[in-house]
Amino acid sequence: MEKPDYQYAQEKLAQLKTDYQVEVVADWSDDASDWKPGTWTKAELDKLHNSIALLANIMGENEKFARHLGGVTVKKSDIGTHGGEALAHRVSLSTKGTFSPWTVVHEFAHSWDANYAWKLSRALEKYTGGFTNPWLSLARRLAGLADSGLYDQEDKPGRHGRKPGCNRAGYFYGDKPSGSNWVFNRVEDFAESVAMYIGWGKNNDLSSWAEARLKRYLLANGASDKNFGVDNWTDYARTFLVSKNTQSLY
Ligand SMILES: [Zn+2]
Repeated sequence: MEKPDYQYAQEKLAQLKTDYQVEVVADWSDDASDWKPGTWTKAELDKLHNSIALLANIMGENEKFARHLGGVTVKKSDIGTHGGEALAHRVSLSTKGTFSPWTVVHEFAHSWDANYAWKLSRALEKYTGGFTNPWLSLARRLAGLADSGLYDQEDKPGRHGRKPGCNRAGYFYGDKPSGSNWVFNRVEDFAESVAMYIGWGKNNDLSSWAEARLKRYLLANGASDKNFGVDNWTDYARTFLVSKNTQSLY
């Protein structure tokens, strides 16, 4: 935070608290004329606010957001390679680099799910006809039916564990998520589905990433995507694209 933005930042924090019951842990301070900039920037506070507003909008009103999430404390912390982490009433964003609007919505969706004892992701799993069965997943891997290694993904095209059930959790998604890999499970499916729902086909801060998530499957096998690397995209098109998406991508 730059010193001239101090007043703006304090007002933004107050507004987030009033409108959404979201409390940002300020790591900047202005004690006894000793300015500490912290890791947050003014632009990041705006990005946080705008992304929360996108999620609140699909719930209908701010009061519903506050009720569904039950108050959330947001802080920057060192969380290793993750961009964000979430539990009920708590969202952490990485101090390494900045965060994207997608990450904010994804993490707040987790926090929403967590506030309902992770029952929302269970409901999504059930509603879409999916299930979680680690034993069946292992059996499929042993039978050579998986697009991964036996106990982990492999770092090569067509081996990242994207097919239903080919992940650590043994999550057999029932519908077509926008993507899947070795760490996919029903909880990630819920958070990604919320972000896709908000961004897809709209013109908001999530829309270009939502489109990028699906456009990769229009690439040829072995092609490199600037965001997602190399994979056998064509082979996965039928797993992740429905014809309706594909048409609107052209
Ligand atoms: Zn997640």
